[in-house]
Amino acid sequence: MSAFPASDRPVLLLYVGGTIGMVETPHGLAPGPDFTRRLHQTLATLPPSSHASLPDFVVRESPHPIDSSGATPADWQRLGREIAAALPEHAGVVVLHGTDTLAWSASSLAFQLQGLDRPVVVTGAMRPLDADGSDARDNIELALRFAAQPLLQEVGVAFGGRLLRGVRSRKVGAQEAFTTPHYPLLGERVGDDAVLFASRTLVSQQRGAPRFELADYAGGLAHGSVARIALWPGIQAWQLDAWLRDDRVKGALLEVWGGGNAPDDPALLGVLAQASGEGKLLAAVSQCPTGGVTLGRYAAGRGLADADVLSGDTMTPEAAYTKLVHLLALPLDDAERRRRFLTPLVGER
Ligand code: ASP
Repeated sequence: MSAFPASDRPVLLLYVGGTIGMVETPHGLAPGPDFTRRLHQTLATLPPSSHASLPDFVVRESPHPIDSSGATPADWQRLGREIAAALPEHAGVVVLHGTDTLAWSASSLAFQLQGLDRPVVVTGAMRPLDADGSDARDNIELALRFAAQPLLQEVGVAFGGRLLRGVRSRKVGAQEAFTTPHYPLLGERVGDDAVLFASRTLVSQQRGAPRFELADYAGGLAHGSVARIALWPGIQAWQLDAWLRDDRVKGALLEVWGGGNAPDDPALLGVLAQASGEGKLLAAVSQCPTGGVTLGRYAAGRGLADADVLSGDTMTPEAAYTKLVHLLALPLDDAERRRRFLTPLVGER
């Protein structure tokens, strides 16, 4: 480790793929070559005073940049390990990522990098770096400025002039791409400044938290061992059973109605109870874009609680899913996994 304070070290900018670095090909947009040169060219178009005040940074390109629609938990794990290894020599890290599954990767990183003592800021762009009117330059500039702020000690998402808690973030649309439905902004751009609202960050809550938990998502967990099942009106017990009976399925995230309700169907609830009884970790979040679940508030939700389905409260589906993967990868007993799922680990609930 270097003898200099962290703030004297450069920010590491990791390019892993996404529209931000894509170019037109005969098959549509795909990751393009020579990203570092194109990045510097783009940042050189900033007003000179903004360019001059960027923090020092170094760029590392993934040898195989991907469209994030193909990312798996194995990619989350690789990224978590690469960041953990690089952090001691850098003031912070910026990850340039595709927007499609950016919120999933940001959520997973938050669980893997618990106890962070410096910033990890994920960003991307809706349009390629070299396209007219691209949002890439502004997003990268903002992410670099936040990644140099020592009071940001968590995984953030910098996008469209705003900084969001990564583990609360969701992609919601083409204009305002990311939002955190149940948490206020962590910061925002004001003129040339990236203003951090430090009282909303994890900085004061992280003390004593364990350092990184770089769990192994290899094998089943990297390949679908946690199912994500949204209820639909008329869903049958046999359909749920087809998902949950398979031995390869270790857990499931259920997306249920409103404040935490499911059909009052004994056969369906029986399938859930049986899966829980076999040690599968089941949790529920709401299909509603806002408002959390409280299992058991309605009689129609009582059955879920009785089947030992855990309440995801206000967690996003991305956070709840990546948390299930993370907890299932740790060498914990069932009771401890359930306890941790219900405990806020990184401000996710
Ligand atoms: N398909 C792209 C990706 O997620 C979309 C984007 O980056 O905006 O990699």
